[in-house]
Amino acid sequence: MIFLKRIEAIGFKSFAEEIKLDFDFSMTGIVGPNGSGKSNINDAIMWALGEQSYKTLRGDSMEDIVFSGSSERKALNLAEVTLVFDNSNRSFSSLEFNEVAITRKYFKNTKESEYYINNSRVRLKDIQDVALETGLTKSSLAIISQGSISNFVESKPEERRKLFDEAAGVARYKKRKDEAIRKLSRTQDNLDRINDIINEIERKLPSLEKQSKKAQEYQKAFDELKSIEVSVLLNDIKIYTSKLNDLENQKADLKNEMNSLQKIITKNNLEYSQLVSTSNVNDKDLSKLNKDFTKAVEKISELKVAKITLESKKDKTNIDDSEYKISELKNQAKYLEIEIESEENHLTSLINSKHNKKLQIDNLSSERYKLNNELEALNKNINKIEIQLENLQAKKSSLDNLFDGVKNILENKNILPGIEGTVSDFIKVNKDHEHAISTALQNNLQNIIVKNTSNVKNAIEFLKNNKGGYATFLPLDTLKANYINDQTKFIIKNTDGFIGFGNEIVSIEKKYKIVLDYLLSNYLIVDNFDNAVNLSKVTNAKFHIITLDGQRILPYGAIVGGSKKNKNTNLFDSGSIEKFETAKQELLSKQESIEATILKISESIEIQREHHNEIQASIATSKKNSENLEKNLNTIKDEFRILTGNELNSESIEYKSIDEQIIKVMEQITAANNFKLQIEQEINVIRSLKDQSSQKQNDLFKALEVDRNMLSVLKEKFSSLNGDSNLLREKQSNAKDRLAQDYNMTYENALKLQEVEIENEKEVREKIKELRSQINSLGSINVDSIEEYKEENGRYELYLSQSNEIIESIKNLKNAIVDMDQQMIDQFKKIISDVNRVLPETFATLFGGGTASIIYTDPDDILNTGIDLKLAPPGKKISNLNLLSGGEKSMVALSVLFSILKVRPIPLVILDEVEAPLDIANVERFAKYIKTFISNTQFIIVTHRIGTMENCDKLFGATMEQKGITKIVQIKLVDAKKITSSN
Ligand code: ATP
Repeated sequence: MIFLKRIEAIGFKSFAEEIKLDFDFSMTGIVGPNGSGKSNINDAIMWALGEQSYKTLRGDSMEDIVFSGSSERKALNLAEVTLVFDNSNRSFSSLEFNEVAITRKYFKNTKESEYYINNSRVRLKDIQDVALETGLTKSSLAIISQGSISNFVESKPEERRKLFDEAAGVARYKKRKDEAIRKLSRTQDNLDRINDIINEIERKLPSLEKQSKKAQEYQKAFDELKSIEVSVLLNDIKIYTSKLNDLENQKADLKNEMNSLQKIITKNNLEYSQLVSTSNVNDKDLSKLNKDFTKAVEKISELKVAKITLESKKDKTNIDDSEYKISELKNQAKYLEIEIESEENHLTSLINSKHNKKLQIDNLSSERYKLNNELEALNKNINKIEIQLENLQAKKSSLDNLFDGVKNILENKNILPGIEGTVSDFIKVNKDHEHAISTALQNNLQNIIVKNTSNVKNAIEFLKNNKGGYATFLPLDTLKANYINDQTKFIIKNTDGFIGFGNEIVSIEKKYKIVLDYLLSNYLIVDNFDNAVNLSKVTNAKFHIITLDGQRILPYGAIVGGSKKNKNTNLFDSGSIEKFETAKQELLSKQESIEATILKISESIEIQREHHNEIQASIATSKKNSENLEKNLNTIKDEFRILTGNELNSESIEYKSIDEQIIKVMEQITAANNFKLQIEQEINVIRSLKDQSSQKQNDLFKALEVDRNMLSVLKEKFSSLNGDSNLLREKQSNAKDRLAQDYNMTYENALKLQEVEIENEKEVREKIKELRSQINSLGSINVDSIEEYKEENGRYELYLSQSNEIIESIKNLKNAIVDMDQQMIDQFKKIISDVNRVLPETFATLFGGGTASIIYTDPDDILNTGIDLKLAPPGKKISNLNLLSGGEKSMVALSVLFSILKVRPIPLVILDEVEAPLDIANVERFAKYIKTFISNTQFIIVTHRIGTMENCDKLFGATMEQKGITKIVQIKLVDAKKITSSN
């Protein structure tokens, strides 16, 4: 039988050069002087088959197996051995090849081995399995050294049994059993660990379960409470909102009513006070006129007395009656003429003043007309501004223009700390810069200014929880601006058309200044596009440049331009509202002054009219007077004609000095009368005005009283409505706060929920109370415990099932071990009985008689029992094995070895000088006996004994032609004998 077909080795121990041994006979001998490297061949075989013990390989470390150099040769780094086996009868049952080449390489520098089967890289384990399968391992029967042969007899029974274990194939089971035991121990460890965990979980679980149940109860109650209370709150908010709307409408109506009433009151009040002040003036004028009147009356009486005195003087001088009569007629005619003339003058002056009054009235009327027109236009303007203001205010308060996120944050400002407002709420932009700044800021106008970063975190959390949209926040504590350096600023400032830096031309409260710096310090505003292009060049296109009409040059030169509806203009509303308010106030005060002027003019017109009427009446009286005077003059003229027969001409009237004096006095009387009349006329005018005024004052006073009462009633009503609406607003805001605080919901978010229908509000509110007290009675709750319990229970079940699986696998392992034990016992028993069957004969053959057997040292424990030998060499009685000679001991061992080979043949056996202690006759017997096995077993025999060499089919000689380097060649028996004898 040839099993090992070839050995190739290089770099292994003394094989510095490649050796190649072809085994084409069943019994091959290897001969050579001591230290020539023969045993290195055994080592090479063991090593290639995966031997890991450097001691077994006779070294101090694995590196010792690599050629370490000689006086002429350098050390090598790689050792490589290949064994080529014949596998046509599938000795390696797991390998489907007729020839199997097993290779091991070892690299000294990396201290790593590589294994190959038929040139395919395999693991050490694969090689070991193969080796075990064929019995080609160190402790097996395959490689037997002289030492192990001589030790066999001397070793302890427990050591001895190893050979039988090998032969019985028990080693394989042992290895598996060891693996199973190791696995069992690992599994047991695992089980212990899992049991520890299970115990730990079991300890925690009941309390966690309790907490979880409590939390679930809480959750259930809370969910129910939430769905009911949110619905109730929503319902309440809706009711409050609709009531608030009603109230606001009522308030608005009331406010309108109050405003118009207030206007009337103000107007009437003004009129009233003007009437009172005019009336005072009139009183003063009247008293002065009365004095003048009294003076005029006194003067007239004085003049009249003077006239009477003169006339009485004249009486004494005029004795003749007819003369006196004529003279009297003349005087009377003269007086009448004077009076007529005076009356005519008076009439002319009256007509003139009537005409003047008419002119004055016309002027005043046209002035009033003009003012009324102006007032009308003014009122239209005021209306327009009021409408605009209302729109702006409504827009501002409705937050319609804001992004969802921003709107949600602003609406919930009261529950979110640190929210200041949007950028547009705080900035003030000059009208001329509005376009540019709104272009620069765009959506940043809606950035929310926030006190600090933790407020931002809070607000973002709120938006996330409520799916409330996005917003950009500017936290004042961490905001940093990217300022332009002074040198660059200087250059920019001196560039044509530059208007200002964005952050400098917009105003904002000092505490928010960083917001402007952050948003706008890199924005340069210029007057027009050409200058913008130039500035961009000058600044190396580093900044945002914006023209007053909103064209932009971006950093790195991109240009955005054209015309776009500026959506953001109304984002500066707060500025506009203020402007509109001031404009409205200006118009209102103008309106007030025009109204006052109109009132004054109306009053003047009244007065002038009164004068006009009075003059008219005086004209009529004067005309009447003139007529009467003319009549009287004519009567006197008639009387004169009758008396004298002459016509009375003014020229024919001669005056004496006394007459002239009388005429003078009369003229003075007429003048004084006219003056008195004039005063009377004025007094009449004033009196009539006073009468009218006091009537008006009365009416106004009454009206004012009524209106004031009415206004105070309205005010009371308004304030009560206001109180109601404040109360409702507070309730509404409380309800919203509750939604946010208790349920972390915005009103809008809550509206998306399915509302519970509230049929009986009282019952529902009772239910809320009940649920709240149920929740309170639960005490402290750990909501996470639900999840924790679920998780922990899951873990518990998982570990429990793992533990069961492990217990099951431990059971299986134990069973397997029991099975393996049984197998080992059976096989061990079998080999022992098989060996005992052939041992007596083998023993007798080798010893030339006698008998031997093997026995258990502990038949009750087959698994661990040692093996003892019972020997009876021919003619001897052995009580102690140690008494045997060295040669006998070897013979005993060889008998056992051969007996085993008989009952359990193996394909390859390497014998390393095992027959050394035998005498020539025994060597002969030994060698011959080997021959009986060669049909089943291949032998490689390292030997110094000629008897053995003679029986070998082929001989290899190991030499060291070069010092330290083994060379192996096939040699003839003669040469072998030479080598041996020279040794
Ligand atoms: P004997 O007949 O005395 O048993 P032998 O022929 O069996 O001798 P071996 O034991 O096979 O000799 O060979 C030992 C030789 O191998 C020694 O000369 C030793 O120096 C050499 N040797 C062992 N390991 C190495 C190594 N790593 N490098 C070089 N030579 C080595």
